[in-house]
Amino acid sequence: MSNSHNISSLTNHQRSLTKGHIIDSNIKSYGIFPSFSPLDPEFSPGHCIIDNFSNRFSFNLVNKNDKNPNKTRAQELDDMVLRYSSVPQLALMITNASIKNNIATSISHVHSANQPLIKTVHHTSFVTSTEAELFAIRCGINQACTINNVSKIIIVTDSIHAARKIFDSRSHPYQIHSAAILSELCTFFSSKEFNSIEFWECPSKLKWRFHHDADKDSKAFSVTSSYLSKISWDFCKKTDCEESIKLWKMTFQASDRKGKHFLDLLDNELNVIEPSYVKGGPWLQSFSHSNSLCARAARAITNHAPIGEYRLRFFPSMDFSCPCNNHSIEPRRHILHECHRFNGYWNPRRDTLNHFVMFLTANPNAFTFNDN
Ligand SMILES: [Zn+2]
Repeated sequence: MSNSHNISSLTNHQRSLTKGHIIDSNIKSYGIFPSFSPLDPEFSPGHCIIDNFSNRFSFNLVNKNDKNPNKTRAQELDDMVLRYSSVPQLALMITNASIKNNIATSISHVHSANQPLIKTVHHTSFVTSTEAELFAIRCGINQACTINNVSKIIIVTDSIHAARKIFDSRSHPYQIHSAAILSELCTFFSSKEFNSIEFWECPSKLKWRFHHDADKDSKAFSVTSSYLSKISWDFCKKTDCEESIKLWKMTFQASDRKGKHFLDLLDNELNVIEPSYVKGGPWLQSFSHSNSLCARAARAITNHAPIGEYRLRFFPSMDFSCPCNNHSIEPRRHILHECHRFNGYWNPRRDTLNHFVMFLTANPNAFTFNDN
């Protein structure tokens, strides 16, 4: 594929200006493929950690109602460290992540009595800060579980929302990490009856000494990305959604897919309604709360309805006149705009979705199989 930005097209002058190493990178090489594992045993009913070990994990959060929550939290963290400092069965884990130049650094410090400090550092690109934070927790738990005789793990993090994702069994972009952590925790909880884990919230603005050390470490590394890395999972999702919507709209306008008799309605700004996936799309948002209303609206919009116009097209031997006796054919337009059998609950424009729904609501017999 030709690419106007590739190295071979650099002029000699441009080459002389480049500093450091450069490599070609395909600008189209976007694509994050999050690995979902919806049938992972960790998420199956009966095996979930919340079913089997609900009393082994807990969250210790900042008390936001406290007069001075930061000061109180720093004191609580200090007390906790003091309480456990000589307990050999404890692994205290401080995790943090930061993103600089699109490169995420995940870091975990594991403190344990009579053990050297274990520091784990990982760099990656194409991730959000939540994923980097969760990955730091994953690495820390993995390290803590390898220390002999540890029966309690305490995790101190400034991203408690990332820690909560571990126990979130719904589909989310971090599921692969959740499954790995849950598997590790299940083994840890099963091995001894009293093994447990606590997650402590520690906002980075506290600059609590242990967390501050991890924070400094995570920012100390200066790594430069060798390829374009502005693309996150969310960005890919957004790009894919926009592409799908564009295709839907083109197909909707350009082809007969929507049907030749499709009733184009307007939104409140009087623009023709176009397909969207938000909340089930604009049409369903307006009438899906009632099955019968939804059925009648679908019949009217597609013109596949028990009315004279339809019978004339498909069953011409049947009666297709309007029961009002004022119209030799009973077309949809006549029902919506003229027929005195129905209450013309329309605005003068008679073409917005809102007024269409009002008409159907005011005329419960319109577009039913028994409209007499
Ligand atoms: Zn009529």
